[in-house]
Amino acid sequence: MRRGLLRRCPLCGSRGIFEGWFQQVERCPRCNYPTTRVEDQWIGSLGMNIIVSFTLLLGVIAVGFAVTYPDPPVGVLLVAAVSVAALFPVFFFPISRSLWSAIDLAMRPPDPDDDVDPRYLPPTRHGPG
Ligand SMILES: [Zn+2]
Repeated sequence: MRRGLLRRCPLCGSRGIFEGWFQQVERCPRCNYPTTRVEDQWIGSLGMNIIVSFTLLLGVIAVGFAVTYPDPPVGVLLVAAVSVAALFPVFFFPISRSLWSAIDLAMRPPDPDDDVDPRYLPPTRHGPG
């Protein structure tokens, strides 16, 4: 999860899964982990971005009103709320993607179909024992 929050590869921790802030590469340059494992995987990151953004927006409005009550500066709060609503989802976009990849990896460990560098695969439970 920490790797996801830092926009790193969830499997090996490499920083190379983004080119710039937004552009995600197809595979991790170090361990070959695919950044998109299944089609439509990004619906989850989109949903997470929406939930986090709306929670932050609600927090800004609620704290703004609470701190300035009983005379809230509506114009200032409106500018703050619109700024958060417009900018935060853009800022959070790549983080939501790498974080969602980390959640996906936690739920579905890498398998041979992922074509990952074997050094980063978890130990198998084949053989005796
Ligand atoms: Zn990696």
